[in-house]
Amino acid sequence: MSRSAHPAGPRHADVLPEGHYSAPPADLNSLDPKVWSRTVTRDDLGVVTVGGIDVKTLAEEHGTPAYVLDEADFRDRARAWRTAFGTEADVFYAGKAFLSRAVVRWLHEEGLNLDVCSGGELATALSAGMPADRIAFHGNNKSSEEIERAVRAGVGRIVLDSFQEIVRVAHIAQSLGRRQRVQIRVTVGVEAHTHEFIATAHEDQKFGIPLAGGQAAEAVRRALRLDGLELIGIHSHIGSQIFDMSGFEVAAHRVVGLLKDIRDEHGVELPEIDLGGGLGIAYTSDDDPREPHEIAKALTEIVTRECESARLRTPRISVEPGRAIVGPTAFTLYEVGTVKPLDGLRTYVSVDGGMSDNIRTALYDAEYSVALVSRVSDAAPMLARVVGKHCESGDIVVKDAFLPSDLAPGDLIAVPATGAYCRSMASNYNHVLRPPVVAVREGEARVIVRRETEEDLLRLDVG
Ligand SMILES: *Cc1c(COP(=O)(O)O)cnc(C)c1O
Repeated sequence: MSRSAHPAGPRHADVLPEGHYSAPPADLNSLDPKVWSRTVTRDDLGVVTVGGIDVKTLAEEHGTPAYVLDEADFRDRARAWRTAFGTEADVFYAGKAFLSRAVVRWLHEEGLNLDVCSGGELATALSAGMPADRIAFHGNNKSSEEIERAVRAGVGRIVLDSFQEIVRVAHIAQSLGRRQRVQIRVTVGVEAHTHEFIATAHEDQKFGIPLAGGQAAEAVRRALRLDGLELIGIHSHIGSQIFDMSGFEVAAHRVVGLLKDIRDEHGVELPEIDLGGGLGIAYTSDDDPREPHEIAKALTEIVTRECESARLRTPRISVEPGRAIVGPTAFTLYEVGTVKPLDGLRTYVSVDGGMSDNIRTALYDAEYSVALVSRVSDAAPMLARVVGKHCESGDIVVKDAFLPSDLAPGDLIAVPATGAYCRSMASNYNHVLRPPVVAVREGEARVIVRRETEEDLLRLDVG
């Protein structure tokens, strides 16, 4: 089953990939609907608008950098996932991709459930009124305090990640007079990323309990014996930014194999299977993600087929998309500060943010696209690298991109598909202030996470 090696590969920060940038897009002013949120367009003056508001107005009123989130698009995507899986399955939005109270309310209204993996995420979810029974609690090292809070709140499930945690959660639940619904997270030996997956017998990572060596079966044995736990299913999460469904096929095959063993040994058919998240989105025009209904169909078929051949009742499926819902719904709006052409190489375009608002390029070698959004331009394309303002040469936002050669300080540029893992991973490196998240919808802009202030920074510094 093994395909090619994991593609993280060597970093070619200084060597441009062959042929990658050889063809600038035919029209630098065009906005590929694959990578921009759905209400994005240019107005008659050539200024980009989103949710009916132009970016110049947004920049004037909210400053830059700013994450601009298209609420209608978010709701559409959340609803599309919900509808695609129907009433036969549950969709849990992975809060770590981006969580705020407004987002929690939208999810609640659109009928989605929510994954959290820390006390802070749980607090955000509960404070915005997400019913506790629609929350799943994840993590490989939840503290006893976090577990107690989750059990007290009545979360729908806790996903157990280790032998110690099985006992810990059981003990806490029992001491509170509760029986906590739990799933066991297993590692099935599949690591999937984009177009590749690796299938092995073992998996070398911190999450989950390995199927290999009968460890997961032993975890099930122990969980079934403890009064404080109600074991409802098995959980598996195989990777991120996945386009190829065949990794899920191998994972489902192996999880169903465990369900079959459980039936044979204990006479119980666990009612649920969670296949995790990790579905890919388009960061550039080269990416071709699948629609939720295609993914739902593929996953449902895989699980049904595997269960039929194992003669098991098909369990209730759940999935946990994070990036695939919020990723495409936001862009980061920056103002250009300096434009520095390096002869024969490229032009460095410095913006007023950087690795503090988008660490993914530095951390994962992620690719992004970028466009001039405050005006249109007929100037020839120039090969550019968009960099931030941090004291660090790896502070790159967009590694290779074409921008118009008349780009100048004061222009606004935007990087699309920054809804996931940008604000949620933002830092205060260099004591830079984290940008706001501005939600736009039908001509109205609303700050849902405000910009950090120097006062915020100094409040934590108690001298
Ligand atoms: C990160 C994570 C997700 C969401 O991943 P995406 O790539 O954002 O879809 C879902 N489930 C678990 C257990 C995760 O750790």
